[in-house]
Amino acid sequence: MADCVFCRLVSGQAEVSVVYEDERTVTFMDIEPFVRGHVIVVPRCHAECLADLDVEDGAQLFRVGQLAAAALRASDLRCEGVNFLLADGAAAGQDVFHTHLHVFPRHQGDGFGVQVSPSSSVRPRDELDQTAGALKRAWSTSSR
Ligand SMILES: [Zn+2]
Repeated sequence: MADCVFCRLVSGQAEVSVVYEDERTVTFMDIEPFVRGHVIVVPRCHAECLADLDVEDGAQLFRVGQLAAAALRASDLRCEGVNFLLADGAAAGQDVFHTHLHVFPRHQGDGFGVQVSPSSSVRPRDELDQTAGALKRAWSTSSR
């Protein structure tokens, strides 16, 4: 898509610091990193959301995420752990509507974290089973 910033980046129409690329994905430095070493893995084919993403592109996104995590751990950058983040939809925090996987190197005291709802708690088995049932019913109709 001509107006998509990530389509412009993966096609070389805008400046980007590439770390890795293959036939399906490009991995580059986030221009506004949350932590030093924060990279983004982007499929070459435009897919606004997970539902639009080719399943092989999705598989490659995770494979390359694993490679990025290994490279971060092997690098001179401070990396004691790794987080992945893929935001699917505005409510999930997606800001660029071309599916992408963030890979963050982590270390103790880096100030980065995931906020957990204060109402989070261990739930009763019957509630978990009901929720699993709702997902199982939707699973068969949404699987590709
Ligand atoms: Zn795009």
